[in-house]
Amino acid sequence: MKIETIAIHAGNLIDQHTKAVIQPITLSTTFERAHDGGYPDGYMYSRMDNPNRRSLENVTAKLEGGADACAFSSGNAAAGAVFQALGPGAHIIAPDDMYHGLRTQILQVFKGVIEVDFVDLSDIKAVERHLRPETRLIWVETPSNPLLKVCDIRAIVNLAKQHDVMVACDNTFSTPVIQRPINLGCDLVMHSTTKYLSGHSDVLGGVIISANKDQFWEKVRSVQVLAGAVPSPFDCYMTVRGIKTLPYRMRGHNENAMQVAKFLESDPLVEKVYYPGLTSHPGHEQAKKQMSLFGGMLSFLVKGGAEEAIRVVNSLKVFSQATSLGGVESLAEHRASQEGPGTKTPQNLIRISVGLENIDDLLDDLRQALSPIN
Ligand SMILES: *Cc1c(COP(=O)(O)O)cnc(C)c1O
Repeated sequence: MKIETIAIHAGNLIDQHTKAVIQPITLSTTFERAHDGGYPDGYMYSRMDNPNRRSLENVTAKLEGGADACAFSSGNAAAGAVFQALGPGAHIIAPDDMYHGLRTQILQVFKGVIEVDFVDLSDIKAVERHLRPETRLIWVETPSNPLLKVCDIRAIVNLAKQHDVMVACDNTFSTPVIQRPINLGCDLVMHSTTKYLSGHSDVLGGVIISANKDQFWEKVRSVQVLAGAVPSPFDCYMTVRGIKTLPYRMRGHNENAMQVAKFLESDPLVEKVYYPGLTSHPGHEQAKKQMSLFGGMLSFLVKGGAEEAIRVVNSLKVFSQATSLGGVESLAEHRASQEGPGTKTPQNLIRISVGLENIDDLLDDLRQALSPIN
């Protein structure tokens, strides 16, 4: 089946008692045993599994073409489960430009447990130079956050396979509508479902999808069930509900973002635009090879410094000045102040999550915010 059909049907079960077309939210934490002591439907206690979580795991695994999925209470919990499953002494390679919350998790929560090198993944020779005997995983994020850097997923997979190293891809920015890392050879895919998958900025969640049900996957599953950072049935329901419209939303985000990127590129107050759909983007050719669209995220540099960039975000009226991404509403943020002290993000960078409002209203808003008299 095609992705639109999977998105609508693979996360839904028609209720066998009431015939409700939409799967109900099962709030019960415990499930009745049969007389023989067994659990006829496979549910025992809702930290271990429950019907709404299973539906969310089914639909996300199918969307990414994986064998199985584990859902978590946040994207960071999902990624953290992979690092916990690696165990002490493992070395990983992660992108030099990556979601800062995850970078901080690796550096603080896994300090002394996991060794990490942050490497420019678009330079395959640099990746190779950082491989060690204890390297277990290459963590890929492409396009990256907030610089929209693009790396060659297949080249990284080929290198990793030669050294018996796993590859995980944070696919939050692209979603399976645009990029399918498992098809390109990745072992694991991670999403912050908080973003495009749920799509309405009203539920937090994360998911890991695995290409194979292997031994490592069993460890990830046991971290989910035993460490217990699981999503509630309501969270799972909300995410499954959002996923139904994901393919259509992604086309709209992509279409609007392309126009916003072109508009910004022609604006005299803009120094530079980072969007993989622009031919001026250094990763454009690679993006065309592994992405079917270019997504709804972009960043740009305002001429000047932090003050000028903050003036622009403060002047926006349709865009909300807020962090996060992937909702139907457009957001803009001064990224460096969001990431805090020590960030390498340029002080004049504004990150935009292009929403699904009418493009004319978005362009008018940017035009007025960028006008020098403001
Ligand atoms: C938001 C985000 C995360 C973290 O997810 P949470 O749901 O906030 O824990 C990880 N990676 C990327 C690319 C993100 O945008």
